[in-house]
Amino acid sequence: MIRSRKIGEVELIQVVEFIGPTHDLDWMLPGIPRSAFDANALWLEPNFWMARTNRLVFAMQLWLLKARDRAILIDTGVGNGKKRTSRHQTMINTPALDWLAAIGAPPDKITHVVHTHLHGDHIGWNTRDDGGRWVPTFPNATYFAPADDWTAFKTQHDAGTLGVHDAPFVDSVLPIADAGLLHFFSPCEEIADCLLPSAAPGHTLGQVTFTFRHAGEHCIFSADVLHSPMQVLFPKINSRWCERPDAARRTRLALIEEAARTGATVYPAHAPGVEGWHIVRQADAFAVRIGDARATAIRALAVAGVPAPMSMPLPKTIGG
Ligand SMILES: [Zn+2]
Repeated sequence: MIRSRKIGEVELIQVVEFIGPTHDLDWMLPGIPRSAFDANALWLEPNFWMARTNRLVFAMQLWLLKARDRAILIDTGVGNGKKRTSRHQTMINTPALDWLAAIGAPPDKITHVVHTHLHGDHIGWNTRDDGGRWVPTFPNATYFAPADDWTAFKTQHDAGTLGVHDAPFVDSVLPIADAGLLHFFSPCEEIADCLLPSAAPGHTLGQVTFTFRHAGEHCIFSADVLHSPMQVLFPKINSRWCERPDAARRTRLALIEEAARTGATVYPAHAPGVEGWHIVRQADAFAVRIGDARATAIRALAVAGVPAPMSMPLPKTIGG
């Protein structure tokens, strides 16, 4: 599936490998009460949560920024034919490369691949199966990754302690490094003259977000800092996969505050839809507006207990 929107003359495209209610709420976001989701069901269903199964809706996807002279992939999804421990991700087979070709970005036209972090659902299309060998899918691209993630993952790989992250590292990162295509971010240096990485540690040690400013828009590709819009209301709640809990909470709150202060459009890595999220401060809490569905958003704010434009009392603190 392909979704897109224009930002000036740049096209922002989502290439969605699959989307659905895959992750059990209590397992993935332990600490947010089911009752909070029930209270917000009117706007969470069906795009972000399914009440009947109590599962979060996630998209596994590649983000593409396409300009006249550049085609930049932000993370590369799950990839085809890869053995994974997740039953949703193992040995999938999607026409993602056909979709990229259909939108004018076949593999040899990709100029940059940038990674927010090195978890398996963000690196999969780095490589493809070529007769039993994993070879770079985008041979003319420069691949960028956070150096701190590379060091941490490589050290654990060498020690045999990388666990579930080892197979993705072996089939989707090491072949890129072996081919001499892997580069690391330098602090304060824009990638492809348009993406500024910022340290966002916690989900992984080296995770980064990317800021993209163009045509008056300010966008933040926020990686896995946020998995659900309900984390805007409950910013202390980490996902199951956040490796450094305290850092992840600090990073999430800082990102939420920045987005509220600047009016940036936030693009979480697994967010369904290409509209982006807008975060607003409401006294000492936060609310989220998604897309142009103002009526839904206002209702969402109301049921979240945030008084805009209604006059419901604001809880002193929201979340854990
Ligand atoms: Zn992820």
